[in-house]
Amino acid sequence: MDKNSADTQELLPAYSGIPTFMRRPVTRDVSKADVVVMGIPFDSGATSFRNGARFGPRKIREASLLMWGYNRHFDVSPLEHLNVIDFGDIDVDPTNIDTSLASIATEVDRAISVGATVIALGGDHSITLPILRSCTARKGPLGLVHIDAHLDTEHGSIEHGTPFRHAAQEGLLNTNAWIQIGIRGPGTHPREINEAKELGAEVLEIDECFEIGIPAVIRRIHERIGNRQVYVSLDIDAVDPAFAPGTGTPEVGGFTSHQMLQLVRGLRGLDFAGFDLVEVNPPYDSSDITSILAANLIFEYLSLLAIKQTSR
Ligand code: MN
Ligand code: MN
Repeated sequence: MDKNSADTQELLPAYSGIPTFMRRPVTRDVSKADVVVMGIPFDSGATSFRNGARFGPRKIREASLLMWGYNRHFDVSPLEHLNVIDFGDIDVDPTNIDTSLASIATEVDRAISVGATVIALGGDHSITLPILRSCTARKGPLGLVHIDAHLDTEHGSIEHGTPFRHAAQEGLLNTNAWIQIGIRGPGTHPREINEAKELGAEVLEIDECFEIGIPAVIRRIHERIGNRQVYVSLDIDAVDPAFAPGTGTPEVGGFTSHQMLQLVRGLRGLDFAGFDLVEVNPPYDSSDITSILAANLIFEYLSLLAIKQTSR
């Protein structure tokens, strides 16, 4: 058999072949998919500092080839339980945020219309808004686990600092099941956190996370979300720049890679409506460490879905 044929791609060593996400087939046929991994190479919403997150999806796919398939922590091989496809990248236009967001919403709807779960690879954090719009159109307002150094509830037009203000104001969120984790760094004004709380968020700042410890943070998440449907949005800048330097707006004093793995694994049992991982910015990365962490975290997303599927 041809060693490079589609059927044998997964037998290739990690450094070889064409890097689709975990060597899943690239297709827009979502009809049989349980999970649709889609790249959103859009960073025109990164208005606050440096862009480059448009290169995130490609690098995360490359790093995903290091995911051999078996999750030791959960004792599960997600690809044995889930039909996962690589949807390729969404058609976005760096000069037009409106058409780009509309295009994201359309493609996300295509996937969830057949009951698949979307895992989106950003891109900057503005991409979460159209995903939430599509998910809630079919599922109703959603709980939100938002892991980030930043609140992303600033005032103003749609960009990566504002998606959750828009989401809350558009009624996309079940605000009783909304929690923000890892918030830190110099703010722009003293009322920021109160403003997020006024929108309905429970806010866990990083100092409190470290004070109570990750297991207690996980308990707080489960108390807040309960059995409500929840969307998970993870901004890689929640991680300390020592572990994830490849991001647009780094903030010192964040989670370690291992703490982030613990946090994501701790979401086990929630009723997931979708996932994203945003703000991976490869031009500022070192030795691909940020992309490798991102790929591992997405592997944990898949594992969470797999153990849900097997009802363990
Ligand atoms: Mn952030
Ligand atoms: Mn963010």
